[in-house]
Amino acid sequence: ASDRVLNFSAGPSALPDSVLEQATQGLLNFANTGIGIAEISHRSKEFLAFLDELESLVREQLEVPQTHRILFAQGGGTGQFAAVVMNMLARDVLLRPNLAEGEERVLDYVVTGSWSRTAAKEATNLTETVPNVRVNIAVDAKNNSADGASYDSLPPHSAYQFSENPALIYYCENETVNGIQFSKAPSDDASGEELNKKDETTFPFHLLPKNTLLPLVADYSSSFMSRPIPRLADHAIIYAGAQKNIGPAGLTILIVRQDCIVDVDAAVKLSRSAIPVPSILSYKYLADGKSVPNTPPVFSVYVSGLVLKRMKELGGPKYYEEFNRKKKEKVYETVKEGEKRGVFRSKVPEDKGGSWMNVVFEVVGDGAEGRFLKGAESKGMKGLKGHRSVGGIRATLYNAVTEEATDALVAYMKEFIETET
Ligand code: PMP
Repeated sequence: ASDRVLNFSAGPSALPDSVLEQATQGLLNFANTGIGIAEISHRSKEFLAFLDELESLVREQLEVPQTHRILFAQGGGTGQFAAVVMNMLARDVLLRPNLAEGEERVLDYVVTGSWSRTAAKEATNLTETVPNVRVNIAVDAKNNSADGASYDSLPPHSAYQFSENPALIYYCENETVNGIQFSKAPSDDASGEELNKKDETTFPFHLLPKNTLLPLVADYSSSFMSRPIPRLADHAIIYAGAQKNIGPAGLTILIVRQDCIVDVDAAVKLSRSAIPVPSILSYKYLADGKSVPNTPPVFSVYVSGLVLKRMKELGGPKYYEEFNRKKKEKVYETVKEGEKRGVFRSKVPEDKGGSWMNVVFEVVGDGAEGRFLKGAESKGMKGLKGHRSVGGIRATLYNAVTEEATDALVAYMKEFIETET
């Protein structure tokens, strides 16, 4: 519809117009039942069939192996900050109930921006008083930044210090606020190890403990389905809130390796280093209940299914990888141009971990940021203001941001450079 603006918001974010039109129909009549999607029982065969299809759409498009379950939860990324700690600690206790003298259960956190920092904080809060459990910051990217205090790049591989036998290794693939993302080596499979070593903006898979079922946990909230996931099979847990690339808020998508779906109650009986887990955060509770142990977020499931069906028709994550690559290249190039002319300042250079999804930069000069945002708004572009904690500009380029919207933004940025110089 013509009254819709160009929405560059980081989440909740733009969704495809065609899907929203379909969804309005589904609100009145879901799957020819004569009942709207927000009104129908989550145990109806029509809804359960839709949920199955959503699962297949994720499994097929990301090539999720049978070693991993796909689960749907609520509670968003924030719910998972706690859930991953609780479920992985329970797993560790069941794997090694008795610790040797002085031995600990260590949770390794890779901190590359504010979301991974928040996740590490949650882990610390949950485990501070738990015996024999410790959070280890394997690396904090701010120590490698220009001012030693903010997040402006990914750390070099040499800065990482993983523990020997951690219960969990955590990272955030795309830091939505800081605009920092791990890159994907051109050949990201097990044989991509050499490429992985050479490119220091990739996640250092080659430094992780060997010969174990890796307890590797990744927050993919703001990059899920935007391109293929490197080393997916090596992960214990991958999770993402739907409200960025996939659909409305409310749905959290989980990819969980089978050995991480454990009897959390049994673990608590075995050792005081396992924490009691509320059912709603237990992967076993979700898995046993086939993702509907309680009422799921039906509307978000519905719209997410429509988005992923459309995505499959377009060509899946490989299609979006090229589509998103083109968009971000245009925007980074224009930021660089503005930087040369003294109008913009890049906050995370493209080759230092600059995100494909959230391009962050500053507008230089007194009142210049306000002028930039006001000018953008007058051209129907919204959601460009950076996160309140860091300021500046954030151009979000999720899957539903079209090439036309990107081109309009780039044209406006170029025009702004001219008027400011
Ligand atoms: N992780 C990342 C990377 C995010 O971008 C966000 C939300 N912006 C969160 C976690 C928190 O997710 P939620 O709001 O779904 O709890």
